[in-house]
Amino acid sequence: MKSRTRRKRAFERRKNSFLNLFLLFLLFFFLILAFIKEDFQKRPEKVEESLDLDPRDMPVVLSVSPTPYSKLRLPILMYHYVEHVTDKRDTIRQKMAVNPEEFEFQIKSLKDAGYTFHFLSEIPNIISGKARYHPKMIFLTFDDGYEDFYMVAYPILKKHLIKSTEFIVYDFIGRYNYMKEDQIKSIVSDGLVEIASHTLDHTDLKGASTESATLQITGSRKKLSEKFNVPVTSFAYPFGAFSTYTVDLAKQAGYTLAVSVIPGTQQGQENLFYLTRIRPGVLGIENVVKNLESYRK
Ligand SMILES: [Zn+2]
Repeated sequence: MKSRTRRKRAFERRKNSFLNLFLLFLLFFFLILAFIKEDFQKRPEKVEESLDLDPRDMPVVLSVSPTPYSKLRLPILMYHYVEHVTDKRDTIRQKMAVNPEEFEFQIKSLKDAGYTFHFLSEIPNIISGKARYHPKMIFLTFDDGYEDFYMVAYPILKKHLIKSTEFIVYDFIGRYNYMKEDQIKSIVSDGLVEIASHTLDHTDLKGASTESATLQITGSRKKLSEKFNVPVTSFAYPFGAFSTYTVDLAKQAGYTLAVSVIPGTQQGQENLFYLTRIRPGVLGIENVVKNLESYRK
């Protein structure tokens, strides 16, 4: 009788310890399941994070097309004379001129700071997202077609392999103080200068008759491109004077952009026909890059 009870107790003990083991196993099983589940929940977050950091995504981010109303920072510098002005009484010329040494220092500072120089005609594609944008693009423009561009500015630009856009007043070609036809031909053939139109005779388009404005805008483009056998896609309003009407004429004439003298660096689809520009005096000489980067218009 006693031995039967012992056997029964022993059986009960074995049964309990088996049950304990089974419960312990179940506990582990659920713990592992919970851990795996938590890990799975974390995963999408980790994947996203790694994609954001993937350097292959960077060009996509940089070349993203802006919305029709967004603007890109594309500084366009506006030069007139690059020379030592000899006539001290000519205050207008003094005001519009940059010394050759200062000019070279300005472009060299920008180049050393990583700026790349482009033709104005590249702007429409940059704005529409068809051409790559980077925040250190800059554009040099020279107004009126003065002879000192050929004699002074151009040799400096050539030395540093810098592109620029030259606004020519068609009827002034060959006049005293202005570039001659063969000088323009020579800079165009080098590939570093793009020519653009600044009307036939620098007429103030504000208040000009329909006939005159059409001739100044359309005729100058046709004559320039025929004489120098190059496409002419950019236009500059004399004295920076433009209106809705002149903007429409420029579009109809086949230009892809026009520049104004409104101070600024922000360019977009809506101001494609009155792009803003910066006078070199605003940048100064000593801190060109610093002044440009802190310029907030
Ligand atoms: Zn002008």
